[in-house]
Amino acid sequence: MLDLSKSFTAFNEAKELMPGGVNSPVRSYQNVDSNPPFIASAKGDRIYDIDGNEYIDYVGSWGPMVIGHAHPNVVKALQEAAERGTSYGAPTLLESELAKLVKQAYPSIDLIRMVNSGTEATMSALRVARGYTHRDKIVKFIGCYHGHSDSLLVNAGSGMATFGVPSSPGVTQGTAADTITVPYNDEAAITKVMDEMGDDIAAVIVEPVAGNMGCVPPRQGYLRKLRELTEKHGTVLIFDEVMCGFRASLGGAQAAYGITPDLTCLGKIIGGGLPVAAYGGRKDIMSMVSPSGPVYQAGTLSGNPLAMTAGIETLKVLLAEPEPGKPDASRILTLKTKKLLLGWLKKAEEAGVKIQAHQAGSMFGIFFNDHDVWNYDDSAASDQQAFKVWFQSMLEQGIYLAPSQFETIFMSLAHTDEDIERTIEAAGTAFKKVAESRKK
Ligand SMILES: *Cc1c(COP(=O)(O)O)cnc(C)c1O
Repeated sequence: MLDLSKSFTAFNEAKELMPGGVNSPVRSYQNVDSNPPFIASAKGDRIYDIDGNEYIDYVGSWGPMVIGHAHPNVVKALQEAAERGTSYGAPTLLESELAKLVKQAYPSIDLIRMVNSGTEATMSALRVARGYTHRDKIVKFIGCYHGHSDSLLVNAGSGMATFGVPSSPGVTQGTAADTITVPYNDEAAITKVMDEMGDDIAAVIVEPVAGNMGCVPPRQGYLRKLRELTEKHGTVLIFDEVMCGFRASLGGAQAAYGITPDLTCLGKIIGGGLPVAAYGGRKDIMSMVSPSGPVYQAGTLSGNPLAMTAGIETLKVLLAEPEPGKPDASRILTLKTKKLLLGWLKKAEEAGVKIQAHQAGSMFGIFFNDHDVWNYDDSAASDQQAFKVWFQSMLEQGIYLAPSQFETIFMSLAHTDEDIERTIEAAGTAFKKVAESRKK
């Protein structure tokens, strides 16, 4: 058994200090009826808790750590940057440097605005879309997560495609009513909404590879359909690539699937583990943003020099030209992920446990489900009990995964073939545990 006694004590104290003992809900391990390890440090693909346990980390701070923890380039650049002061609230060369690196990978972005979280990026992108179109309504897809701003904390009402109802106390009915929710990967549902109301809809916002109901890629042709429908009605198409940016491919889902959105939201990876996100896109739309236009959006710490530095160093590693004949970072990540998933599928089959697996570049996940998963309802029908057993067994074997079947897990460049093989072996043991637990 894993000794987590120090973490357990620390969690009890934290619960006296912070709601649920955490600063973001999923960290609490509530979904797996357990207590979280408290983390002391991380390096490469390893993460260490205060009890002295070592894990191979597939959470990667929920996505950002794609080149591994404490990468020497990032650490050195941050140390040097800190010596020059941690914040000025004034323009720096670093902001332009990160903007150029992002634009290199995302040619659909003419102008970009840096913010501090994915939540801010999507909230601001919606505001710009509304300001640009002079329309109020937006469409989001059930099971897609875009941060916690009011307009986006909305669930489906009853029926197929409905005006939203608040999914959290504190979100007003009025705000939720402007958000129309539609099932993901369902062309007929979005076509119906756009046919009926398209001319009143400011924006359609989508995770072009969904990562917050587990990893669920778009069905073939789905993103093209969204592009056609939004174009037809003058609706702004927003790709929320906060998670899938630099993961579905270096150019995100838009490059992987060849669809150009009007606006893109990025986050997670572009801060290299510091709080950075961004929104950007078409020049005519982004020119609406203050001070070049009337749509207000600001941030005391936006473009912070330390945060820009971590982002720049991370993107430099990712975007580096590979040696001749060698694969680029994106390809390496995809192949590592494929190896791991194929290994898990084989082990699951050997244990007689049926799973579904999805991968988009270095994002991946499995569902304990007899049927393939293409939307939120499919995902929600997965066996939660099996996941808990599997998760706990993996943790005990030193494999650190997201504590929920509704999360995506992430590969990094720091994961070695050896570590991947160890993870496959551990999964074999964990799948057997699932099979045993089902017999009881
Ligand atoms: C993580 C995430 C967000 C929110 O970003 P925060 O930095 O947590 O506010 C938004 N959209 C998607 C797709 C995400 O995965």
